[in-house]
Amino acid sequence: MSGKTDVDADRSGAQETVYADCVHCAEPTEYPESVKGVTLCPVCEWQEAQRTACSG
Ligand SMILES: [Zn+2]
Repeated sequence: MSGKTDVDADRSGAQETVYADCVHCAEPTEYPESVKGVTLCPVCEWQEAQRTACSG
């Protein structure tokens, strides 16, 4: 019973991924900082997709 709890605690502290900020609104994105190029948060990414869809 106690073993399960230990695993959960271990996993939560093991990974510390630093996420890049959104270039539009500075909100944290789902992309790690190691990703090159423009990083957008889910909201801005959706808005960009809408804009692209309309311009075509
Ligand atoms: Zn954003």
